[in-house]
Amino acid sequence: MAELASYAVCESNSQGRRIVEPRPKTRGEFQRDRDRIIHSTAFRRLEYKTQVFVNHEGDLFRTRLTHSIEVAQIARSIARALNLNDDLTEAIALAHDLGHTPFGHAGQDALNECMAEHGGFEHNLQSLRIVDKLEERYGAFDGLNLMFETRAGILKHCSPAKAHELGELGTRFLKDQRPSLEAQICNLADEIAYNNHDVDDGLRSGLITVEQLQEIDLFAWHEKAARAAFPDISGRRLIHETVRRMIDAQVTDVLAETGTRLEQQQIETLGDVVQAPQLVGFSEEMRGMNRELKHFLHDSLYRHYQVVRMTSKARRIVKDLYEAFMADMRLLPTQDRLRGDQEGNPRAIADYIAGMTDRYAVKEHRRLFAVGME
Ligand code: MG
Repeated sequence: MAELASYAVCESNSQGRRIVEPRPKTRGEFQRDRDRIIHSTAFRRLEYKTQVFVNHEGDLFRTRLTHSIEVAQIARSIARALNLNDDLTEAIALAHDLGHTPFGHAGQDALNECMAEHGGFEHNLQSLRIVDKLEERYGAFDGLNLMFETRAGILKHCSPAKAHELGELGTRFLKDQRPSLEAQICNLADEIAYNNHDVDDGLRSGLITVEQLQEIDLFAWHEKAARAAFPDISGRRLIHETVRRMIDAQVTDVLAETGTRLEQQQIETLGDVVQAPQLVGFSEEMRGMNRELKHFLHDSLYRHYQVVRMTSKARRIVKDLYEAFMADMRLLPTQDRLRGDQEGNPRAIADYIAGMTDRYAVKEHRRLFAVGME
């Protein structure tokens, strides 16, 4: 393996684990983090959580699990090309969506409204809460006891009030510092992954059309290139050839732009990374094209009436569940109710609901509200 860049995160410049553990014998510390995330319960649940389309709408749509794997793939490719720590990058990418509620953003918004007077609910903080506290797998500690830089990468954003509560991990939000390059890569890889896979899923669902996308520069250019390379292909094969070119162009752009910024800012150490402005990013031109695509998806896909119907139902399910549990904590499974004694009932309920998969939430709703069932 090529030696890591001098500004990469590595074990020798890491701030380590909250609880000191013996070094792993055959793996690196960040490999161990990645492995702990993969073995966690929250990670397995991602398989049955919605990204945009509800889990049962079709077998071919992305779920939070396949989304997270695609983010990890894109992020790792970028990290490796820049000689950065790809184990850390992969760990952050695989964990970045652990805290999502069922039903995608609709679920999170509903839970956040329910929790308005009790500290709110934010999936990003919930991801951290899962790896720091909620996973129960180890005899010696709660959570997964991950390396500082993995936890810092999971915490993408944070209000000043929360940052104060988080101690060392919150410092960068108060001092206006940046996270590691590895974390910055995961943020951008997340965006690259969902914009492109939402084009693919959107087309597959029939909610958006190729004709609409031909008005969008990024798609139009690469569709033209795909047609030029393979004049005889059409349908799904042409879409795939287009989307893979879009991803490739964006990754190539990030590598070139980030390389330039690293040079311009004369970055040599991890300390330089933290102090510098955002280093991982698109060129001006790509940022514009990406914005155009995002706006299109926002207006035409995420606000499509069929998606809105689904999200409105999801909001109702989450709200109903929350209100039912708040009205009577005895409805909560024993273990979760006991957590309420320690953390307050609203937070324990939020943890329970956030942990649900889409289908579990639907089932639980039926169990609580349908007369004559179970
Ligand atoms: Mg994501």
